[in-house]
Amino acid sequence: MHQSPIHCEGGETIAIERMKEYINSGGAAHYSQTRNQFDGQNFSSQLGSWLANGSLSPRLLFEQLQKAQKTDPGNSQSFDTIKEQLIWRDNFRFLFLRYGDKFFTTKGLRRTPHGMYNDLEAFEMWRKGKTGQPIIDALMHQLRATGFMSNRGRMLVSFYLAKELKVNWQWGAAWFESKLLDYDVYNNYGNWAYQSGRGTDSRVNRKFNLATQTKKFDPKGAFIQKWI
Ligand SMILES: Cc1cc2nc3c(=O)[nH]c(=O)nc-3n(C[C@H](O)[C@H](O)[C@H](O)COP(=O)(O)OP(=O)(O)OC[C@H]3O[C@@H](n4cnc5c(N)ncnc54)[C@H](O)[C@@H]3O)c2cc1C
Repeated sequence: MHQSPIHCEGGETIAIERMKEYINSGGAAHYSQTRNQFDGQNFSSQLGSWLANGSLSPRLLFEQLQKAQKTDPGNSQSFDTIKEQLIWRDNFRFLFLRYGDKFFTTKGLRRTPHGMYNDLEAFEMWRKGKTGQPIIDALMHQLRATGFMSNRGRMLVSFYLAKELKVNWQWGAAWFESKLLDYDVYNNYGNWAYQSGRGTDSRVNRKFNLATQTKKFDPKGAFIQKWI
C-alpha cells in the first residue's frame, strides 16, 4: 500500500501547521510552476481535506497567502493563482445554491442531450485503471492506493470517462466521492459537471490530447512508471 501524499490527521491545529509548513517551504511562492504536476511533496498545498471538512478556514488561508505575498512580490503571480483556486471553491458553493439538485443528474446544468451512457464495462475499466491509456491508468491506480489525485490528474480522468468513453459522469463523481480523502460535495460534483461539459464551461466540447498532456506533465514517464 502506498503512503498517501496528503496529511491525514484531523483537526485545526494540524491543519494550521500544514498551512504554515506549505507557505514557509516556498510551495505557495512557486505554485504556478508546480501546480500541474501529478505528484510531489509541495507541488500543491494538499490542504483540501481540512478545507473540505471545515477544519481550516479558507479566509484564514487567504489571509496568510496575502501576507506572504506582500513579503515576496517577485512571486506575486503564484500567490494570485493559488488564491484564485479558493475563488473557484467559492464559485462552486454559489452554483450549488443556485442550481441545487441539478448537479446530481446526468444532464447537469444543461438542457441539451448528454450523450453519456450507463456503460458498466467501460466504467469498470476506468475505475480499475485498465483502459490501456497509460496516464489514465496510472492516475486511477494512484487514486485507489492513496485517496489523492492532483488537479491536473482529476481533469484528465474525468474528461476521459465522460467525453472519450462517454460514460455517465455521475458514476465517475460517485467513484471519486468514495475514494478522495479531500472529498467535498461542491468541488467534486461541480468540477465533474464542468469537465463533462454539463456545467459552466462555455466550451462544452473541450478535449484533452492525452499524448500531449503526458509529454508536458510527465515528460520522463516517471509517474506512469511508478503507478503501472
Ligand atoms: C473532477 C474533479 C473532481 C474534484 N473533486 C474535488 C473534491 O472532491 N474536493 C476538493 O476539495 N477538490 C476537488 N477538486 C478540485 C481540485 O482538484 C482539488 O481541490 C485539489 O487538487 C486538491 O489539492 P490541494 O489541496 O493540494 O489543492 P491546491 O491546488 O493547493 O488548492 C488549494 C485549495 O483550493 C481549492 N481548489 C483548488 N482547485 C480547485 C478547483 N478546481 N475547484 C474548486 N476548488 C479548488 C481546494 O479547496 C484546494 O484545497 C476536483 C477537481 C476535479 C477536476
